[in-house]
Amino acid sequence: MKSREALGGYLADRGWMRRVLDQTYANMNDLAVSGYPFPIDDEGQSYRRSLQGPEYMKLMRKRVKKAGVRILDHSPALELLVDAHGVGGASGIRSATGETWTVKAGAVILASGGCAFLSKALGCNVLTGDGYLLAAEAGASLSGMEFSNAYAISPVFSTVTKTAFYTWATFYYEDGTVIEGAGSQKGRSVIARTLQTQPVYARLDRTTEEMRRWMRAAQPNFFLSFDRQGIDPFTQLFPVTMRLEGTVRGTGGIHLIDESCATGVPGLYAAGDAATRQFICGGFTGGGSHNAAWAMSTGYWAGEAAAAYAVSLGSRRNERELTGAGVEASVSALVSTGEIQERIAAVKREVEPFDINLFRTETTLAQSLGRLHSLWRNVRNAAAMNAADAVKLREVQAMTATARWMYSSALARRETRGMHKRLDYPGTDASQHYRLLTGGLDEVWVKPESGVLSSVEVRQS
Ligand SMILES: Cc1cc2nc3c(=O)[nH]c(=O)nc-3n(C[C@H](O)[C@H](O)[C@H](O)COP(=O)(O)OP(=O)(O)OC[C@H]3O[C@@H](n4cnc5c(N)ncnc54)[C@H](O)[C@@H]3O)c2cc1C
Repeated sequence: MKSREALGGYLADRGWMRRVLDQTYANMNDLAVSGYPFPIDDEGQSYRRSLQGPEYMKLMRKRVKKAGVRILDHSPALELLVDAHGVGGASGIRSATGETWTVKAGAVILASGGCAFLSKALGCNVLTGDGYLLAAEAGASLSGMEFSNAYAISPVFSTVTKTAFYTWATFYYEDGTVIEGAGSQKGRSVIARTLQTQPVYARLDRTTEEMRRWMRAAQPNFFLSFDRQGIDPFTQLFPVTMRLEGTVRGTGGIHLIDESCATGVPGLYAAGDAATRQFICGGFTGGGSHNAAWAMSTGYWAGEAAAAYAVSLGSRRNERELTGAGVEASVSALVSTGEIQERIAAVKREVEPFDINLFRTETTLAQSLGRLHSLWRNVRNAAAMNAADAVKLREVQAMTATARWMYSSALARRETRGMHKRLDYPGTDASQHYRLLTGGLDEVWVKPESGVLSSVEVRQS
């Protein structure tokens, strides 16, 4: 716990950290009992220290099905259903057929991941901040949205952003000379600065023969694109870039008001990357086990609390008059597929450039925010012409809203803390040692969690 506190700018909470460690330990043992294929170590014991995503999801899916749950694959949720008592369901579209679906439920858990702004980073192109927008429309807050500028190193020719192995890389200019100060863990800013003017190359040349064998066995997919290109990353230089992972390897998300993962809106809970990870990571995560541990633990607690809430509704559950919480589409604002693509490009122009999102200043953030506010006014009531476009349009709305919460929070945090780096405030300011909440749709608000330091409050629209 101590090793991560400084990295996260001392915004994590040891109580939450302890709970997550304990719950993850219990869940790992539970998985073993349920048949997760953990490897056997040299002493013949089940080695319960690592999870493979696909295996984990396969087992969880089996358990969910066994419990009688119907799974709607490829069926994005577009809207929450609400009444005066809170959230009571959701509706969306089945991508394959374009049909709409509606689910009425005693409670809803948002577990839709973070937002990586369609940057094509590995595993992230389905993460467009939809859950943030759904939550905000229902009246929930977000927090830690300034911690949203994660960029991962990847080869130029691939989307694989597994960055752990770059710990053993050296970074080079095109002429083969070493870029001083460039590095994966410390020195990513040097790589970004260099990329602004010229290509950057890497080579995993700080590895031993034994490490190389181990690395291939541990992360086969890291090497796939190299093998296809006929490049040996241990002995040959290869061009690298940095792909935006936004809040996925940032820490911002839907704010939780208590340990049950409640959002403050009755009947609405959040889990995993959709929820703020500040409680265990503060303002920095990078990669690593705490993220999956958070997903596993918050999923467990949110499930437990949502079930209890649904039961507490009793027969009232069947008497609800639910309506959609989303912003209303106006037929006079019909947009074509091409216009939606233009708007996606417009959001990306604001969040991808290092000069706006990584190297932050008052001027660049405020200018970008101005453009994002006008983009929001442009997309908020837009209507799509078909089901596929409706999903894409919703993604644009969510990404635009997310970017506005990000930059409004980044403007309010006039210091450097965690992954949030302000060039105009390069130091950490002890008087800003608080979490920032944000929210709002047409008018975005930001305020410290405690509510006492009102000097940083800003309102933007
Ligand atoms: C390259 C990479 C490597 C990582 N390595 C590690 C690691 O080694 N260890 C670790 O602990 N963590 C790691 N992480 C982080 C980890 O993957 C996440 O913390 C974890 O996947 C979060 O789980 P989740 O279920 O909350 O969200 P996700 O896994 O992101 O799942 C969210 C799901 O919601 C779906 N969705 C989105 N919008 C909607 C909508 N509107 N309607 C319906 N569904 C929707 C998405 O399609 C997706 O399936 C890594 C992340 C990346 C990007």
